[in-house]
Amino acid sequence: AGRLCGKTALISGGAGGCGLAASQLFAREGARVGIVDLPRSKGEEVAAAIRAEGGQAVFAPADVSVSSEVKAAVKAVEDAFGNITVLFNHAGILAVGPFLETEEDEWDRLMAVNVRSMFLMTKAVLPGMLAAGGGSIVSTSSISAVAATPMEVLYDTTKGACHMFARAIAVEFRDRGIRSNAVCPGFIATDHGKRELVGLAKYGVDVSDAAIAAQQGRMCDPMEVAQAALFLASDESSFVNGTHLFVDNCFTAV
Ligand code: NAD
Repeated sequence: AGRLCGKTALISGGAGGCGLAASQLFAREGARVGIVDLPRSKGEEVAAAIRAEGGQAVFAPADVSVSSEVKAAVKAVEDAFGNITVLFNHAGILAVGPFLETEEDEWDRLMAVNVRSMFLMTKAVLPGMLAAGGGSIVSTSSISAVAATPMEVLYDTTKGACHMFARAIAVEFRDRGIRSNAVCPGFIATDHGKRELVGLAKYGVDVSDAAIAAQQGRMCDPMEVAQAALFLASDESSFVNGTHLFVDNCFTAV
């Protein structure tokens, strides 16, 4: 039983933050989970812990911005568990700082890790997904795709691209059994989320508990993002395609 029973799911960034929550949740819901994350991450530990609980998981290390590593990781997951029918494009990094101090190499790095990764990963997974008769792709956008955060021109730009990537893939592949949607979280209590608050505070942006409370009530729990991704990954969302699911307690609604 389980809402992802019979599916092979690849989760990029699956060893940390919301990706970790998704790896655990998807495995509990019956998916065979391929965790793709940096070699230095806790991927191996996370996969072993899932297996110890009776789930199925493998760790396939890769920097998601590097084509050869993405291809090797996708092949490793397919070799272990068969064609991938759920792809959660989740790995991403943050940059906070004044636009005029943003350097070109930082710009290129963030675009590569946050955006090129979705292109590389999706391109590598789709042939197997199409051969399997279809599947669901969930990409990680953000409230930052539609509501600019101070000091985050670069990050916001990458998330704007992720936002449209999810929709454009849906339109191109909807007649071939592929669904593509995005989750758009607000501030989440992960390493990334905590670094963001520290970074913003350094530049005088009010990120006090009171300010967060005014914007979205409280910090989002990583599992709340994973649950939204689970819905989009599962067949329960069979007619949901090309859309953006905000997990932000009205941050972008008011
Ligand atoms: P996190 O930093 O806690 O975890 C990110 C994971 O991705 C880590 O395990 C890290 O090792 C992995 N990763 C980073 N670079 C990688 C690379 N090049 N190759 C492979 N793996 C890599 O972050 P999080 O808060 O879980 O955020 C993950 C995603 O959620 C990102 O796409 C981020 O933009 C998005 N998001 C986060 C927030 C937030 O407030 N934390 C809000 C909205 C959207």
